[in-house]
Amino acid sequence: MFIYSDCYSYSKCVIAYKDGGCLLGACVRIKNNKEVKKFEQFEYIDWGLHFCPYNKKMDNIVGFHAPIVDLGNPNSNALSILKNIIDKISDYDYLTLHITNGKEPNIDVLISNLSELVDYAKKRNVKICIENLRAGFSSNPNNLIEIADLTDCLITFDIGHVDYENRVEYIEIFSDRIYNVHVYELEIPKIGHIAPKNLENLRSTLDKLLDVGCEFWLIELMDIDDIVRTKKMCEEYLKEYR
Ligand SMILES: [Zn+2]
Repeated sequence: MFIYSDCYSYSKCVIAYKDGGCLLGACVRIKNNKEVKKFEQFEYIDWGLHFCPYNKKMDNIVGFHAPIVDLGNPNSNALSILKNIIDKISDYDYLTLHITNGKEPNIDVLISNLSELVDYAKKRNVKICIENLRAGFSSNPNNLIEIADLTDCLITFDIGHVDYENRVEYIEIFSDRIYNVHVYELEIPKIGHIAPKNLENLRSTLDKLLDVGCEFWLIELMDIDDIVRTKKMCEEYLKEYR
């Protein structure tokens, strides 16, 4: 069991692990609000503010993904945007964010902004999770863990942002700080997140996640049928694993 009692003392942490089993949720990454109703079937929802504004009517939201801002840019208003979001989501569990906007960050600015944000969020019981990306500064696992250690935040591990052969190593580097995981096959430039046909390529990664106690998985795909299918595959895998 993976509980951050030494990191944070959050009341909502327990929802993730209430049955002692793996939590499987779905990410809302749609632009068309008409489709939102289809997500009511999932018990746990990660709401992507980088895709659509917050919809208060949904009561199965567990956490949020932030809009894409640049915390490592001294001339950006990223910090105030993110603080505003924390104020609005303080009843929820976590906020996942990209710490850089594809550009090389000013490290001092990044650390100072992120530390301030993490402290701000802690006081409001919201966990800050930083996500590994496909390219640039946040694609280097050593950069990400160093920033997470320095600012005492957590990590959203995105499987599909890492080449197959490096995934287990990333988990080893991140394991102490992974809070949740974006699960899908692979991100392909200009195409996006693709769904697994089966779990052949993901099995060793999922095994490793369970071995180190990372049991909060969020299916991050755009198509609702793909999400349902992938979630089912994960459920079957989990039955086998145990
Ligand atoms: Zn992701």
